[in-house]
Amino acid sequence: MAKRESPDLMETLVSLCKRRGFIFQSSEIYGGLSSCWDYGPLGVELKKNIKDYWWKAMTRDRDDIEGLDAAILMHPRIWEASGHVENFTDPLVDCKACKRRFRADELNGENCPDCGGELTEPRQFNLMFKTFMGPVEDSASVIYMRPETAQGIYVNYLNVQMPSRQKIPFGIAQIGKAFRNEITPGNFIFRSREFEQMEMQYFVHPSDDEKYFEYWREKRWQWYLDLGVEEKRMRWHKHLEGELAHYAKKAFDIEFEFPFGWKEIEGIHNRTDFDLKRHIEFSGKDMSYLDPFTNERFVPYIIETSAGADRSTLVTLINGYKEEEVKGEKRVVLSIDPKIAPIKVAIFPLVKRDGMPEIAHRIEEDLRKSFKVFYDESAAVGRRYRRMDEAGTPFCVTVDSDTLKDDTVTVRERDSMRQDRVASSQLKQYLSDSIGYFG
Ligand code: ATP
Repeated sequence: MAKRESPDLMETLVSLCKRRGFIFQSSEIYGGLSSCWDYGPLGVELKKNIKDYWWKAMTRDRDDIEGLDAAILMHPRIWEASGHVENFTDPLVDCKACKRRFRADELNGENCPDCGGELTEPRQFNLMFKTFMGPVEDSASVIYMRPETAQGIYVNYLNVQMPSRQKIPFGIAQIGKAFRNEITPGNFIFRSREFEQMEMQYFVHPSDDEKYFEYWREKRWQWYLDLGVEEKRMRWHKHLEGELAHYAKKAFDIEFEFPFGWKEIEGIHNRTDFDLKRHIEFSGKDMSYLDPFTNERFVPYIIETSAGADRSTLVTLINGYKEEEVKGEKRVVLSIDPKIAPIKVAIFPLVKRDGMPEIAHRIEEDLRKSFKVFYDESAAVGRRYRRMDEAGTPFCVTVDSDTLKDDTVTVRERDSMRQDRVASSQLKQYLSDSIGYFG
């Protein structure tokens, strides 16, 4: 299948996402709110399926990782302990001529990339959003919108470990919103100011950190392959000495080849005992772990896997977008892996008569118990196929005149356009086998 790699792919995708109800600009009727996005019917399904698939891989499929859903608002001391108040900054520069703002670390030259004007000296800009808790807006009531979900895990690690009776090594997984007042948001949902993270923190004995760091690098790489991402569009980026975050001993990013360049989609970090030690120091609480087998007491090291749900959604859209010529016509296909596709099966009566809509509705009701389905009887069947190709629907089931005779239906597969004749009674099994995990 021909793959479209034109520079305007992002523009095409943004417009497809709007038109088909995947994703649109937040507060659009008021002119939009910069770098905030709303997920419509298809987008919310796609992102939810990605999150569910992550949750399954990271918690349900294993016995050593527990789930958590911590509050977005947390005690402000947490962000002092974590180093975010002091260090979660980006270097900001302004162009003296055109007044545009840039992240100094993203610029190549010394002058404004837009107009060539002179730039100001960089100053550090903290990315955390602040707000006030309670009715009085003074410095004592300042709290922060969390810039990462990780800290909710650290401060709760013993609350999770004790009731679940996990022994080190074990992990805690969390999916939730994070907020960053980014200097240069953009590239659609790649960098927004409100986004969702899928983070897992794995608590290990300090002498095992290297081993589990490598283990999680491998696991997380494979997760993207299982999601259908082409391996040739992925690569590793190792953080060098100067790039490492204040908490990290070692860090590798998984990068994806976006139309706007190679960019991070997930970070795997060895955070050592930095976070727990800081919380011990700032809270005055003992958060060490007593090994029941060796009686050794120690502060665990943490291996973190930190992915973005929105970035993963964008990756699946870019990775799946294809255009090809079929019988002289352009066919647009979102070739998304069936297990995360927003709609799994579309059901069509070939024509709106001879009892076909009734049979199709019966099939729809039956399949709805297992899959996200969509019924469509408007326009020629070819048009209906095209609409489903664009929505990324892997299977279309058509009830036609043969169905009336032998109770079989046509199942058409999105990518190959292959059509199979399947007995109605076998349909659910056929689809389950083809879609695999769908729940
Ligand atoms: P970048 O270098 O792109 O700013 P980062 O190194 O600050 O990213 P992390 O703090 O490691 O990112 O966050 C982990 C993951 O959270 C990222 O890999 C990305 O998927 C997601 N993420 C971070 N910031 C944003 C954002 N502003 N919008 C969308 N997703 C984000």
